[in-house]
Amino acid sequence: MSETIALQNARSLARLNKALPDIFPAPVLQHALARRFTPPMPRLAVDSYWRLHPLRADRLARALAARTGAPAGWTWRLASKRERDLPATFRMPAAPYREKKHTLGPGFCCVCGQPAFRFGWHADLWEEGPNRKAQWHTACVTAWQFWNAPSDFVRILRRLQQRRCGQTGGRLWKTAEVDHRVPLFRVWREHRDTPWPELLGFWGLPNLQVINRDAHVEKCADEAGWRSRRAAAVV
Ligand SMILES: [Zn+2]
Repeated sequence: MSETIALQNARSLARLNKALPDIFPAPVLQHALARRFTPPMPRLAVDSYWRLHPLRADRLARALAARTGAPAGWTWRLASKRERDLPATFRMPAAPYREKKHTLGPGFCCVCGQPAFRFGWHADLWEEGPNRKAQWHTACVTAWQFWNAPSDFVRILRRLQQRRCGQTGGRLWKTAEVDHRVPLFRVWREHRDTPWPELLGFWGLPNLQVINRDAHVEKCADEAGWRSRRAAAVV
């Protein structure tokens, strides 16, 4: 078995070396060579690098977005019958450059609004200008997945918390769940006017924690109580 993998990796490495441009991000190459299965193409090496570093991708995507800032006059709104291109729910990250009205066109990332270069990289290492075929940074693809489905990244988040419950500090059980410290419905209700991209922090690591299921149930009950009290107050 290991012989087969070694053989396959030798083949992949030959392909990778052949396709590798003179300039290539060093950490990605290092990462590729350390994989159990060597990615056979530079593009796959970049994808694999970000997939394995979702926290780095999250941080980078928010930093890139901070360079762009929000389009003038933009506010966070949800989809309606007339404006279907807006996010369907407040669970989806606020992304002005994914809206038709603010789209920046080919060569720009629809998540952060910065130019995208070869292999979806975020810096122009090749000095050849934006890649007109790209509309996402590879890092922003991973960040987007992380923001939309943080539960898929529970293992890395558990490790980050040294397997301690974010709510009680006790040991995390196998059944622990990813939680938004400030629940997204409250972000929508109370923090809607937070400037973008600071707003993105509510979907990213600064607002995520892994907590034990019983602590989660309790927290959700508190939140539900808060919601109904608030609804009663509105009535
Ligand atoms: Zn981006």
